[in-house]
Amino acid sequence: MKILMMGPPGAGKGSQSAKVVDHYDLPSISTGQMFRDAYKNGDPIGIEAMKYIKKGELVSDDITNEIVRLRLSKNDAENSFLLDGFPRTVAQAAALDGMLTKMGTKLDAVFNILSSNDVLFERMEQRRVCRSCDTTYHLKFKIPKECGVCDKCGGELYQRPDDTLESVKRRLEIYETKTRPLLDYYDKKGILYHINGMQPFDNVYNDIELVIRDL
Ligand SMILES: [Zn+2]
Repeated sequence: MKILMMGPPGAGKGSQSAKVVDHYDLPSISTGQMFRDAYKNGDPIGIEAMKYIKKGELVSDDITNEIVRLRLSKNDAENSFLLDGFPRTVAQAAALDGMLTKMGTKLDAVFNILSSNDVLFERMEQRRVCRSCDTTYHLKFKIPKECGVCDKCGGELYQRPDDTLESVKRRLEIYETKTRPLLDYYDKKGILYHINGMQPFDNVYNDIELVIRDL
């Protein structure tokens, strides 16, 4: 099973992806996560990428395609994976198709999680992430037991630099201009599924699962 999760920033793509990955035991390929890990490790690719990410800009196609190409060449990605946050441009989608064709495979499904801008702003501004284990919280919908502390590992919670109001606005703009055209691209291939992201978490997940069962 090879699937791709799409949706504007803040639509709940990350938490839904985490549950799918967990349930179906899929390798998760998240470019955002790979860049943040590379940055933490002081890797030049991570330092370069973080310059763009902090401003809410897209990391260049070259750097992004390369980090994905390296990840897809690992053994665990041979039979199944979930892509989250890549591709974000039509050029990246074309590059991905090239990589998959070389592997003798293709995507099975692309999920587009829909949400309104009001909901998106609220979700992103209230989002907090654990510095140690990357678990995500929300100050209204997924409140940590102790303020500022991760339930799972006791790590410190922080607001990601790309979750500030200014950066969120920029990310939504970029999503509209560069990422939205991808929906057409995948719709034409007949593998695009729209999911209503403005429902409770479990209902969104159920809708995704209904599609996965039929793949
Ligand atoms: Zn934690």
